[in-house]
Amino acid sequence: MGRRRRKVVRIPKKRLPKFFSCPMCGKASVRVEMFRDEGRAVVSCGSCGAKEEFPVKGALGEIDIYCMFTDKIYTDARRL
Ligand SMILES: [Zn+2]
Repeated sequence: MGRRRRKVVRIPKKRLPKFFSCPMCGKASVRVEMFRDEGRAVVSCGSCGAKEEFPVKGALGEIDIYCMFTDKIYTDARRL
């Protein structure tokens, strides 16, 4: 008896957290907006108003942009 198995291919989508925690105020209110057409991304905190813009190259994702944001904040903080 030939039994046919239906293939169920489910690709689990990893949901990114919408908000990241802010290195400035510590609240989870940092949002990364990607403008791939324009080749830039804007990171902004809805709580303390910290805002940075970064160029988006290749396959950079929200997480990468967020890392650049925290790096920059920490670098700036060290400089002051
Ligand atoms: Zn903040």
